[in-house]
Amino acid sequence: MRLLVVEDEPRMSCLLRRGFAENGYAVDVAANGADALWLATEAHFDAVVLDVMLPDMDGFVVCRSLREAGCWAPVLMLTAKDSVDDRVRGLDAGADDYVLKPFSFAELSARVRALLRRGAQIRPAVLQVGDLRLDPALHQAWRGDEEIKLSPKETALLDLFMRHPDEVVTRTQILERVWDFAFDGLSNVVDQYVSYLRKKIDKPFRRDDLQTVRGVGYRLTSSSS
Ligand code: CA
Repeated sequence: MRLLVVEDEPRMSCLLRRGFAENGYAVDVAANGADALWLATEAHFDAVVLDVMLPDMDGFVVCRSLREAGCWAPVLMLTAKDSVDDRVRGLDAGADDYVLKPFSFAELSARVRALLRRGAQIRPAVLQVGDLRLDPALHQAWRGDEEIKLSPKETALLDLFMRHPDEVVTRTQILERVWDFAFDGLSNVVDQYVSYLRKKIDKPFRRDDLQTVRGVGYRLTSSSS
């Protein structure tokens, strides 16, 4: 079993390398995101242990890029922040599990073993509402067979709507989930991105699925055709 450890702090990465090696794993260490992405596309790894705090890019970006590059090895993220937000971001980015720092090596090792038992992840679920499909990892959607390319923000927004079909999603919920903070003054940003999204998923198909609920927010309907 071959592990990729992505951690910039020398003492921590040394400890992880030694610990995993003693457990019989082959271990490669990357000290930054760029090296991790390069290594992961050059070699096969059975699992990746990925620190969130890296010097060049954060672990969420690394994780997402790994998935975009077609690397589906299970990813366990190390996060120092005990926040729901980080956990959600990690899982949204395609991570399989996370461990909060500080951790005991025994705990980390047990979690890695559990991930390896589960085996390589199947790609994250493609979401479907009516004839609209979204592959969040690829930032790509389809209306029927037509491909639609999305930006990361448009992907995050559509992802949110597709997880709540036929429900009203408020501007505040959108700001919190897609922009990571709530600030009413910015709700025109939401309106703007909704209009970008409509130009991609509705207008070219003469559809009106992403509806405005006046004074509240938006709703993606599953029924119109
Ligand atoms: Ca670090």
